[in-house]
Amino acid sequence: MTSLRTRAVHAGRDDLVDLGLHAVPIDLSTTYPSRDSRDEAARLDEAAIGVQLGARPVYGRLGNPTVSRFEAAVADLEHCASAVAFASGMAALSACLLAAVAAGRRHVVAVRPLYGTTDHLLASGLLGTEVTWSTPEGVGDAVRPGTGLVIVESPANPTMSEVDLDALAGRCGDAALVVDNTFATPVLQRPVEFGARIVLHSATKFLGGHGDVMGGIVACDEEFTRTLRQIRFATGGVLHPLAGYLLLRGLATLPVRVAAASATAAELASRLAAHPSVRRVYRPGFGGPLLSFDVLGDPHAVIGSVRLVSPAVSLGSVDTLIQHPASISHHIMSAEDRRDAGISDQLLRVSVGLEHVDDLWADLDQALAGSLVGRAG
Ligand SMILES: *Cc1c(COP(=O)(O)O)cnc(C)c1O
Repeated sequence: MTSLRTRAVHAGRDDLVDLGLHAVPIDLSTTYPSRDSRDEAARLDEAAIGVQLGARPVYGRLGNPTVSRFEAAVADLEHCASAVAFASGMAALSACLLAAVAAGRRHVVAVRPLYGTTDHLLASGLLGTEVTWSTPEGVGDAVRPGTGLVIVESPANPTMSEVDLDALAGRCGDAALVVDNTFATPVLQRPVEFGARIVLHSATKFLGGHGDVMGGIVACDEEFTRTLRQIRFATGGVLHPLAGYLLLRGLATLPVRVAAASATAAELASRLAAHPSVRRVYRPGFGGPLLSFDVLGDPHAVIGSVRLVSPAVSLGSVDTLIQHPASISHHIMSAEDRRDAGISDQLLRVSVGLEHVDDLWADLDQALAGSLVGRAG
């Protein structure tokens, strides 16, 4: 089988040579003219049951050829039959929740910690779902006949705790296991290999990789993608074709970006663990570009003092980002829910980019030096 690194470069572009093209064409059409309205009607009947319309999708909300290339590439990398792209990661998650509600299975079992807005969407029940929070071990007791989805992130955000997906999949009964794979990326983990039915990404992060495009994508089997296409068509959370182009371009370098950033993150983690201002460092067991750490002093002082590292929420960009989860990414959760999820007020999360490790260390070290100033004792 061709390696992931090779597929990342070629997936979604396999037909370009036959088209006489090198770069992927961007199709900005909102409508697709046709002199054959009987054919159009037949195609709309297909779209109504979620069939992908291919080259001339009648109308832009039904599909887009540039976006379809990105979808095909992510399905390939995640070892799934198919994928459906959305305007953002939250639009992608919303479509999964609406699919469960529409199927009469509005009960969702979710494992904390989750991305802050995911937690909020489930806790608020805004889309008509009813959530039961569970530990990974408790999922078997939490699912019931009407449970539509089991939702988990591994490694978790921002604590980097890992869930045994294989064991979890065995506890889901006939509920579909949804794994948010934004942090791991298909380079480090392909959840369907562990029994997940649905793989979700905020493509805004590592897939795009340059901090300049928002998107979301769900990779799964063909049956569930048909439902998702119907929901996307009816609710309109489509990915813009330019975003589809940029996300596909980002995929080509995903494996090398993840490998380089992971090596730097490993080195930073060991230096941080030995730093007198750091209490504890968290990293996923399989590595990766993310790390978080509890500081002894003032976490806000660290955010205010970095000069090379970008003090910004989000992750997966070419530049290194640092943020304070209790103030930003997980601020929308109640303080009590944060505590239950293991997110301390001292925690800082770093998404390591492609800078040289020594330059990053010099910046973090000087920012940490200031964080203990003014602390009693
Ligand atoms: C960012 C993020 C999301 C939401 O994605 P958007 O593209 O911001 O809508 C969901 N899950 C995780 C793990 C994320 O990091």
